Amino acid sequence: MITRKEMKLSNSHLDNSEVKPSSITIIGGGLAGCEAAWQAASRNIPVTLFEMKPDTFSPAHSLPSLAELVCSNSLRGESLENAVGLLKEELRQLGSLFMEGAYATRVPAGGALAVDRELFSLYLSQKIEAHPLITVRREEVVRIPETGIVIIASGPLTSAPLAAAIGELTGPYLYFYDAIAPIVSAASLDRNKVFAASRYGKGDGDDYLNCPMDADRYDTFVNELLNAEKFPSRDFEKVIHFEGCMPIEEMARRGHETLRYGPMKPVGLLDPRSGKEPHAVVQLRLENRDATLYNLVGFQTKLTYPEQKKIFRLIPGLEQAEFVRLGSMHRNTFINSPHLLSDTLSLKTDPRILFAGQITGVEGYVESAASGFLAGVNAALLATGNVLTTPPPTSAIGALVRHITSTDHKHFQPMNVNYGLFLELPGRVHKKERRQKLAERALVAMAAWREQLQLQGENSPADPRATRAAPPDVNHEQG
Ligand SMILES: Cc1cc2nc3c(=O)[nH]c(=O)nc-3n(C[C@H](O)[C@H](O)[C@H](O)COP(=O)(O)OP(=O)(O)OC[C@H]3O[C@@H](n4cnc5c(N)ncnc54)[C@H](O)[C@@H]3O)c2cc1C
Repeated sequence: MITRKEMKLSNSHLDNSEVKPSSITIIGGGLAGCEAAWQAASRNIPVTLFEMKPDTFSPAHSLPSLAELVCSNSLRGESLENAVGLLKEELRQLGSLFMEGAYATRVPAGGALAVDRELFSLYLSQKIEAHPLITVRREEVVRIPETGIVIIASGPLTSAPLAAAIGELTGPYLYFYDAIAPIVSAASLDRNKVFAASRYGKGDGDDYLNCPMDADRYDTFVNELLNAEKFPSRDFEKVIHFEGCMPIEEMARRGHETLRYGPMKPVGLLDPRSGKEPHAVVQLRLENRDATLYNLVGFQTKLTYPEQKKIFRLIPGLEQAEFVRLGSMHRNTFINSPHLLSDTLSLKTDPRILFAGQITGVEGYVESAASGFLAGVNAALLATGNVLTTPPPTSAIGALVRHITSTDHKHFQPMNVNYGLFLELPGRVHKKERRQKLAERALVAMAAWREQLQLQGENSPADPRATRAAPPDVNHEQG
């Protein structure tokens, strides 16, 4: 069909004879691909899941089994105070295989849900491989089938030939590195210190918020950047081409004034309180249409998270900043979803092709599984001739999907789930109650959506947090 193995056997073009119209092809047996396969097969749709391991490994994968956690073994906090805790609870209620495996293989980790990495991967592999409607083929896919329903879930380290094939679908809207600047919640900014203005009054004249710095503060800031600790780069990430998206600390290293001629340039920005240009300026740009989040323009960075929080809170107006995500720079294959995908995760130009996982621009294990859930459900709906669905925008899955498919595509960068993505609650809500009320609203909406999907109906899975599930009978040797 479409795999490297077959290409070696014959140099023929793609043969679609194996693609059954009502079956689904999934490329990538990672977190998203496994969840998608499970959801589609649970709806009685045959699935062929392609995974290139163990013949070919990405630079970060090492286990032969499916659904490998490539780095941390933590799926992050469980409390509904964290949006990722809510996302997990929604997935659990929806009958996610990822969550089933996580609870079955969890290890004690305080307030976080952490798992035994190998048991988790084996648990999901065994479930997937034992499902009568799922066929797992251990082959690298190098072309995208020209017919049939396809989910592309090949992850942040998609193999090069497949990335080239995806590039034919996406044109220039496929990227190989992310360059993420920190994002702060609008509510946490000190409005007495920042001023609204666009450079030379362009656009609406006040599109940006500006944090003005005097010379002393600028000097301190640059010195702190120079002395800060950085994340070490992995070998396969060292080739990042920095021009155009250089980390802020590298720019500072080029010269004391470099930042004042780069992202901290004050020209054309008059502080209305003094009527003058400040010595330097940090600009904040809207991250979402609801104006609940701002990113620090040009502040992509490889500094460690504690250093980022410490140093960026030196910026006037950001002393109490709530960082909904911190800056980073990684090797990361992802598409420009707001440009390319509809809110069902299908390709606007060819809806039989869906994307899932980190390649859609969600960031993180749980987020990847969540997008796999939606792609799997929608692929099954497509296979049965039904209208596709999108989760309620007030839910965590809905907020995430809404963000990646409707945010401004010109500045799109990967995003993890956070409460800043949620639609605001109506009326005035005390800050302390906000998250609790957002979570309550989300779970009500989720229950309605679940009913609509007729997922679990009366038989919603039992809450495994009440009694910790025994580890599965998983034989390490079988991996
Ligand atoms: C180095 C690194 C560390 C990370 N650490 C964390 C972390 O600690 N916590 C966190 O929450 N997130 C982390 N992430 C981000 C992300 O959540 C994970 O990468 C997550 O596994 C993404 O899920 P996925 O299903 O999209 O991709 P993956 O889990 O990577 O699955 C994709 C699968 O597709 C296969 N594949 C690729 N190309 C082909 C092909 N051509 N044919 C067939 N199969 C193919 C791969 O072998 C892989 O098994 C990390 C990412 C990277 C790159």
